Amino acid sequence: MSRELETDVVVVGGGGAGLTVAGTIAAASSRLRVTLVELDSSQPCNTAIASNFIPAAGTRFQRAAGIGDSAPLFAADIMRKNGGRSAAALTHALCSHSAEALHWLVDALGVQLELAPELTWIGHSAIRMHAHPSRGGPPVLASLRGFAQGHGRIRFLDHTLGTGLIQDGNGAICGITATCGDEQLRIAARKVVLTTGGYGANPGMISSHIPEMADAPSIGSKADRGDGIAWGLGAGGRCALMGAYQGRDCISADGTRVTPPVLNEGGIAVNASARRFVDERQDYSALARVYRQQPGKVAYFIWDERIQDMVKNVFVMQQAKARGGIMFAPGVEELAAAYDLPAPELARTLERYNEGVRSGNDEFGRSGLTRPLDPPYYAARITGAIAHTQGGLVVDTACRVLREDGTPVPDLCAGGNTIAGLSGDGCTGYLSGNGLLVAYVSGYLIGRHVAATLEGPRPAWAPM
Ligand SMILES: Cc1cc2nc3c(=O)[nH]c(=O)nc-3n(C[C@H](O)[C@H](O)[C@H](O)COP(=O)(O)OP(=O)(O)OC[C@H]3O[C@@H](n4cnc5c(N)ncnc54)[C@H](O)[C@@H]3O)c2cc1C
Repeated sequence: MSRELETDVVVVGGGGAGLTVAGTIAAASSRLRVTLVELDSSQPCNTAIASNFIPAAGTRFQRAAGIGDSAPLFAADIMRKNGGRSAAALTHALCSHSAEALHWLVDALGVQLELAPELTWIGHSAIRMHAHPSRGGPPVLASLRGFAQGHGRIRFLDHTLGTGLIQDGNGAICGITATCGDEQLRIAARKVVLTTGGYGANPGMISSHIPEMADAPSIGSKADRGDGIAWGLGAGGRCALMGAYQGRDCISADGTRVTPPVLNEGGIAVNASARRFVDERQDYSALARVYRQQPGKVAYFIWDERIQDMVKNVFVMQQAKARGGIMFAPGVEELAAAYDLPAPELARTLERYNEGVRSGNDEFGRSGLTRPLDPPYYAARITGAIAHTQGGLVVDTACRVLREDGTPVPDLCAGGNTIAGLSGDGCTGYLSGNGLLVAYVSGYLIGRHVAATLEGPRPAWAPM
């Protein structure tokens, strides 16, 4: 069975980036119709999996809290972390529209967000994380999806797999093919937007581009197969920074996570010998591969009641606790017994760490030492994983897909993890928030650009 559909804009992939594109076009224009094609909204996309701490510089929420910040400062933080290895124009465009996009999510698309000043995010020189009051991703996604599904000019095709681009004789993109059950769809469109995420769940692409994590678990979206990247390349687009990824520790039993501030605020990591092996505060993305180099490819995070009080409301902490991944121990003996660690060595490790905190001289050169770790303890057995990839199609500041010669592939845009992002070309360039900054702000920029470009005379074929 086959069916032909027509629309003004087709967006492939209904995660944070795609929903923002669709919502922005619908809200910013008076008549444009959007068709959003989503593989399966009942499965968690990366936007649902992430904690959704969204960085933005110069927001009204920061101003109300007396926090000074600016787009240049934000861009400098990103470039410092990635060693200058992201496209400067795109980096500046995303940072300088971050506040505007965040306000748009709240005011036009109905997402509830506030400043989240309570936790430390290393590498940001201002407090600039914003989050849903629940500190979780699912409510943010639910608001965006609710907006799209309730809007009369957005057709939400769920359980529909985009299968390829349609290109006219001049190389311009004029639609997509898709399948929904046993139905074959051809969707004609004036613009096509690729927001299918990255390729974290594509073992072949991981082996080619990120061999160091080829055997690591992937804890992101199962739909992260690199579809949009492959189609963009096939249409003449160019890729860059394909080795970029966010590494992440995860609870080894089930892939749930503890939030990075567990370590940033004073927790430690030990290996199966109950010894520390690294400065735990240096970079959670880069540390993922270090955890995999430990015996058994595991490590144990240990923190105390003071830290637990700070992080207990973060959604991923509640999720990990509910699934039994976080352990409570009244003292060192119980902690060691729970994980079969040598108790005398664990006691020495904790004492050495506490001495370092008191003297300000940590044996691994750790900075930001706060308070000694005191019983009772909390702990989790973790390993290193790949969270999501950050390499992909090269785009300009309107997120149009570019060819080798720098000219745009006509009528093709891409956003979110489908584009070459802001994290350099490996695991060490990732600054917390780079994923969602790109997803939401690229979605907003594409939406504004497409709405402005297409708000011309209505095409003859367009039905209401
Ligand atoms: C464990 C984890 C932790 C993270 N932590 C953070 C963090 O702290 N801060 C941060 O900023 N970022 C974080 N991220 C990254 C962030 O979640 C992503 O960068 C962001 O959500 C990407 O949004 P997206 O819209 O590009 O992709 P997604 O949200 O994954 O959406 C892509 C959508 O495309 C659909 N799709 C794919 N292929 C097709 C197809 N062929 N046809 C139809 N639909 C298709 C998928 O089903 C999916 O719904 C984290 C990610 C993970 C996995």
